[in-house]
Amino acid sequence: MDIVKRFINYVKIDTQSNERSQTCPSTEKQKDLGNLLLKELKELQIPSFMDENGYVYGKINKTTEGKKAIGFIAHMDTSPDAPGANVNPRIIKHYDGSTIKLNKDLSMSPDTFESLRHVIGEDIIVTDGNTLLGADDKAGIAIIMDFAAKVMKSNIPHGDIYIGFTPDEEIGRGADLFDLEFFKADFAYTLDGSKVGGIEYENFNAASAAIKIIGQSIHPGSAKNKLINAMHLAMEFHSMLPPFQNPAFTEGREGFNHLSGMTGEVEVAYLNYILRNHDMKEFKRQQAFFYDVRDYLNHKYGYNCIEVTIKESYLNMYEVLKKDMTSVELAREATIKAGVEPFSDPIRGGTDGARLTYMGLPTPNLGTGGFNFHGRYEFASINQMKKAVNICLEIIK
Ligand SMILES: [Zn+2]
Repeated sequence: MDIVKRFINYVKIDTQSNERSQTCPSTEKQKDLGNLLLKELKELQIPSFMDENGYVYGKINKTTEGKKAIGFIAHMDTSPDAPGANVNPRIIKHYDGSTIKLNKDLSMSPDTFESLRHVIGEDIIVTDGNTLLGADDKAGIAIIMDFAAKVMKSNIPHGDIYIGFTPDEEIGRGADLFDLEFFKADFAYTLDGSKVGGIEYENFNAASAAIKIIGQSIHPGSAKNKLINAMHLAMEFHSMLPPFQNPAFTEGREGFNHLSGMTGEVEVAYLNYILRNHDMKEFKRQQAFFYDVRDYLNHKYGYNCIEVTIKESYLNMYEVLKKDMTSVELAREATIKAGVEPFSDPIRGGTDGARLTYMGLPTPNLGTGGFNFHGRYEFASINQMKKAVNICLEIIK
């Protein structure tokens, strides 16, 4: 089966995850894709299984001694941010750089979506404008399956190859129940990036901050010198944070505090932030600033009106990888051998690979040829997906 056919089969299965669900997988339908992948792995004679949490694993046994055991990982779920059922993909051959009409209401032009300029002359797959495409991350899955099929047919000598398909990456739980007892790779790659050639090994350090603000409510008619309005305090708290440390003013390696939620009444108010920074020292300083503002306001008002709870959620994998860059170097050489130019941008987000790296499995992220993730303008380049397969083949050589 060719990679395009695989990809189209996978995107037609609705695998949207659901943040509000407590189960794993968060949605039972992710197992529909899991079962198909299991069947395909078995058809390729690759020992494989699905565990009770919906993770699918396979292992291609080594054919020679003395080579590293390498893992390849992609996620099965699609983002809850856009409709994911009834995906109706369309192939555009030799894309000429013009505006693409997705349907009668929706068009996509390279002026707005610069990523289209990366695929001029290539065969691309787009949506019908009503759903996301699911290239994130079914492009990764199709690449790994096509790669696995090619390994089984070839006689390339290789070490142990592990394959992992995870649920619920989009809701931040993909690494939670990853079976490292089975997955005994020296290092692995998530195939979950965008442009092919991308080798990502730096991501944000991430934390969330929950601020509880306690006011002192009094009937407004007799409030003079007594009322402390929690909502006013919330605004005061926010106004003391550095104004340009805001996602709307940052890029590259610049960190931010993002106000993601705000509710309140006179008596109590809540602010929720996410904090992000690639640099560990800056990240800690950002957190300290929240406590400083708390202390200042508590002192100013004379009681503990502000409570700050900060939880770190994931950390920059580079802190671990910098001690041993073998996985990154190997990917870089393989990319060049496959005739693709390697590049590494810092990820302005997190990946399951970051979590896995901290769990003991170094896992940088590779480009797949998918673009504009999490929405109706998502598309995938067939040429780039095929190049990604070649990169994986070079990696195991
Ligand atoms: Zn993804």
